[in-house]
Order: sequence, then structure tokens, then C-alpha cells
Amino acid sequence: MQANHRNVIILGSGPAGLTAAIYTARANLRPLLIEGLEFGGQLYTTTDVENFPGFPEGIMGPELIDRMRAQAERFGAELQRGEATELDLSKAPFKVTSSSGESFTCEALIVATGASPKQLGVPNELELRGRGVSTCATCDGAFYREQEVAVVGGGDTALEEALFLTRFASKVYVIHRRDELRASKILRDRGFANDKIEFVWFSEVKEFIGDDKTGLTAVRLIDNRSGEERDLEVPGCFIAIGHDPNSEVLRKWPIRLDDQGYVAPEGHHIPFTEIDGVFVAGDLHDHHYRQAITAAGNGCKAAIDAERYLEATQG
Ligand code: FAD
Ligand code: NAP
Repeated sequence: MQANHRNVIILGSGPAGLTAAIYTARANLRPLLIEGLEFGGQLYTTTDVENFPGFPEGIMGPELIDRMRAQAERFGAELQRGEATELDLSKAPFKVTSSSGESFTCEALIVATGASPKQLGVPNELELRGRGVSTCATCDGAFYREQEVAVVGGGDTALEEALFLTRFASKVYVIHRRDELRASKILRDRGFANDKIEFVWFSEVKEFIGDDKTGLTAVRLIDNRSGEERDLEVPGCFIAIGHDPNSEVLRKWPIRLDDQGYVAPEGHHIPFTEIDGVFVAGDLHDHHYRQAITAAGNGCKAAIDAERYLEATQG
């Protein structure tokens, strides 16, 4: 086999990609996994994972990922830093160009590039990123000891971020555009029961106030019923309004994406796509369940189907 040729390449190091790596490595296919710029994916940005089977006391997201990685490496998976910047899927073997500067070819490709946090798209959001505006409480929460902070969103992520932030902050405002949370009951109940959390209903962020020197000083809110504006003075604001699929590298190939960019092949059952030998797994196609266990399950399916495809085509 040529040095840069592989049976299987996997893109992404979240639960989907790492599970695919465990299965394909254990099937002796010696997969190469290109990690992506955020090793571990979404779970690496969270704290307690309480619903992954096998951990009755819960497990920290990064530890769960590190264990998956160790399991994949134990069976011979090779993990490489960087991200796939370009794919050539015109014919097998497929070509993967990595930001590491190397190019690889492979007989089967498993794309498990997951999803990344959505932006609000308001003034100063990008300028103040890392200076008060964040999408990761686990990463940045400890900067706000005994200070007031805000979280934007009403889903599970927003509630988890808010609850986590109560460990440091003196108060956490949860800014939501409705007066009903999308979050699951258990997190809603914990949020409502926490004295440090105050919900700011029917409110949207109009802009972030601050500059390079001051960092974030306030969040300008607009009440979407009355149109009234006010500034909520906080040095930290965490945006938790969902994720967009990382499907950019697939765009120029005949794999159907839905209007939000999720992989949605026509006439094929996931993990299969319109291109024989290219499989998908995880949050890249799943905007319904979006759980670590379902992503891992999909990674397993993609690996088994890739293995069968290789058996059928390579013998
Ligand atoms: P991701 O985890 O998104 O991983 C995608 C990977 O692909 C990343 O490593 C990324 O860097 C990489 N990548 C992206 N582009 C490229 C590229 N071009 N080339 C190579 N690699 C690339 N679920 C639960 O079940 N329980 C929980 O408690 C829970 N808590 C959560 C808390 C938070 C804060 C968040 C955001 C999510 C949580 N989830 C939880 C959801 C769960 O994390 C996701 O469903 C799961 O991580 C999806 O796995 P994935 O492997 O499909 O994608
Ligand atoms: P989500 O469920 O899509 O929720 C996004 C929230 O942000 C919604 O409340 C939405 O408001 C709001 N929002 C979206 N766009 C907005 C905008 N432009 N401005 C203001 N608000 C906006 O996303 P998520 O919370 O990240 O959860 C994603 C998935 O991961 C879910 O399946 C979830 O169950 C899973 N997850 C699970 C856990 C866990 O099990 N412990 C933890 C975290 C995440 P509306 O409600 O008005 O639409």
C-alpha cells in the first residue's frame, strides 16, 4: 500500500468519528482519522454527561472522548491533527487534502464532521469573541467568578451552560426569545430551581456593547413584543442557540444537503450517500436526536457498512 493510501479515512473526532475508528480499527482496516480543528467535538466543550449508557454516576465529556480515543488507538487507529480542507470524490480512491499539508487517498470515506455553534449575527459578536462573548462555558466560565453573566438560548445547551456557570457567577441571566423553554424537563426543572438563574423572556440580542480595551460591557436587548430596548450590563455572554452542520467540504459533490446544510441523501439510507464508498455519521446528518449515544451508534453503522463495502469491492 502506498504511504498515503488508506483503506478507510474518517473525518471528525466526536463520538461518531471515534466510534467509527474503534470499529474499523478492530476490523483490522487500520483507519486514519483526521481530527478536525476541535478535537473531541461538542462533548469536549461540556462537563457532566449523565445519559451515556455505562456510566451510572455520569462522566465528564472530555474524559468520555479520551476513553473513546484510547479504545480506537488500542486497535490500531491512527489519529492525525488538522482538518480536511478539500475532498475529491469524483472516483475511488477518494482524495482527502488535510490542513496539515498532506494529501491522502482512501477506498472508503466516513464523514463525521458534526456541527459547530451557531452565531447570532449581531453587531460586535465576532469582534468581542474571546473578549466576553463565548460559545463555551466550560472553556471560559471560570473567568467570571462572582460576576453576573448571560446565556442566550432556551434549549438543553443553554440550560446546561447556565447551570454550569452558576458554579462561578453571582448571577446568570438566560435570555430567550419566547417564554417557553425548548430544553428537556430535567434541565428546565433544574434551571427554575436554581436561585442564581433569572430568565429574561421575549428578549433578543440586538448588539454587544464594548470594544477591544473594555471587552464586553453590556448586551443590548430588545423586547420582541414591545420593541423596547435595554442594556444588560454583563462582562460575559454565552451564546447557546444551536449548531450548524459542518458540511462545507461536501458542498461541491453530489451528496444532497437539506436547506440547513445537513446531509440528507435522496433514495439512500444513512450512512450511505449518493456516492458509493462515502458514508456519513452523527450530527452531520442528524438534526433530530443529536445525542452522543446516537452519534456513536451512527458511527458504528457507518463503520460496519464501510467494512462490507470494502469486502464487496476489494475482496
Ligand atoms: P461533533 O461532536 O460535532 O464532532 C465533529 C468533529 O468533526 C469535531 O472533532 C470537529 O472538529 C470535526 N470536524 C469538523 N470539520 C472537519 C473537517 N473538515 N475535517 C475533519 N474534521 C472535522 N449529548 C448527549 O448525549 N449527552 C450530553 O450530555 C450532551 N451534552 C452536550 C453539551 C453541549 C454543550 C453540546 C454542545 C452538546 C451536547 N450533547 C450531548 C450533544 C452531543 O455532544 C452531540 O450530539 C455529539 O457530540 C455529536 O457527535 P458527532 O461526532 O456527530 O459530532
Ligand atoms: P436547540 O435544541 O436547537 O435549541 C436552540 C435554542 O436557541 C432554542 O431555544 C432556540 O429558540 C434558540 N435560538 C435559536 N436561534 C436563535 C436566534 N437566532 N436567536 C435567539 N435564540 C435562538 O439546540 P441545543 O440546545 O444546542 O441542543 C441541540 C441538541 O443537543 C438537542 O438535541 C439537545 O437535546 C442535545 N443536547 C443534549 C444535552 C443533554 O442531554 N444533557 C445537552 C445539550 C444538548 P426557540 O426555542 O425559540 O427555537
